[in-house]
Amino acid sequence: MDKKIVLSGIRATGKLHLGNYLGAMKYFVQLSEDKHKQCFFFIANLHTLTTRMDPRDIVRDLKEIVLTYISIGINPESSVIFAQSSVPETSELNWLLACLTSVAELEKMPHFKEKKDMKEVLHETVNVGLLTYPVLMAADILGPLANMVPVGEDQHPHVELTRDIARRFNILYGDTFPVPELLEGEAIRVPGLDGKGKMGKSNQNTIDLMDSPGEVLKKISRAVTDTARVRRSDTGNPFNCSLYALHQLLSADAELKDVHAGCASAKMGCVDCKKILVKNINQLLAPIQAKRFELNEKGSKYAIEILHEGGKRARKRIAVTVENVKEKMGVPLY
Ligand code: SF4
Repeated sequence: MDKKIVLSGIRATGKLHLGNYLGAMKYFVQLSEDKHKQCFFFIANLHTLTTRMDPRDIVRDLKEIVLTYISIGINPESSVIFAQSSVPETSELNWLLACLTSVAELEKMPHFKEKKDMKEVLHETVNVGLLTYPVLMAADILGPLANMVPVGEDQHPHVELTRDIARRFNILYGDTFPVPELLEGEAIRVPGLDGKGKMGKSNQNTIDLMDSPGEVLKKISRAVTDTARVRRSDTGNPFNCSLYALHQLLSADAELKDVHAGCASAKMGCVDCKKILVKNINQLLAPIQAKRFELNEKGSKYAIEILHEGGKRARKRIAVTVENVKEKMGVPLY
């Protein structure tokens, strides 16, 4: 039986945090262990350019993501780990697919509208990359002929557009692309420590995967809890507290039951509740950090070796698709 191709990417920006891990990466590990699936994990360093970061930061973050993938348990031999920039054919496919996509479709993408509004408020230029980002994403997905795409809720409109482009191409030029399925079963929304929404780099409300136990303690101690619990004797509603949502993701059933009952009855104070959470976060992070520190010995050279090997494997597959697409569109390599 042919293996299903699973593709997922992550932008090379900043440190990885608990939200990335619990919301996506943990699920990537499960997918990568499934014998019926072949996973391609790429670091979207071309997408990162839409926000124009320092080149040194992009390179540093890219290598860190590779080493983190290995630290959480992804095997670079069974899964393909590569940098988007290692496959020039993806950029070529981006152009070919852009010619099948209307400006109106791109302008109505929520991600573009949100970024454009934000840039206009800051009087910053809205670059073309921000508009055409979903076409490059379609090329990322369709290039390796992916069947399944595990992405967060915010990326669903982009995958829907990819599906439309795949169908459009297949109608115009004959069956070429599988129409990729969204893999959303395990999508988990991880709350931030500020109690205002999702955990995210730009919100500065994260626990980073490499935070030391002391840093975790400091961050959780300062985290926003249910505002009804002003005094120790005030009862609270755990569902109004983002830390309870983290407990639900990390704590054992018995602890969760105690926290819920203790919060609602005020028998447990926030300090004790936070101590349990800190313990569980540190327990989760300890093996990941141990593995990551072990990889320090091999250094960034190891990350480059993985990217080099993964790039070759990804390119081999994607180049065949792009050659086929060019042939069908009447623009082959002469
Ligand atoms: S006891 Fe725990 S769940 Fe309740 S408000 Fe305090 S930190 Fe949140």
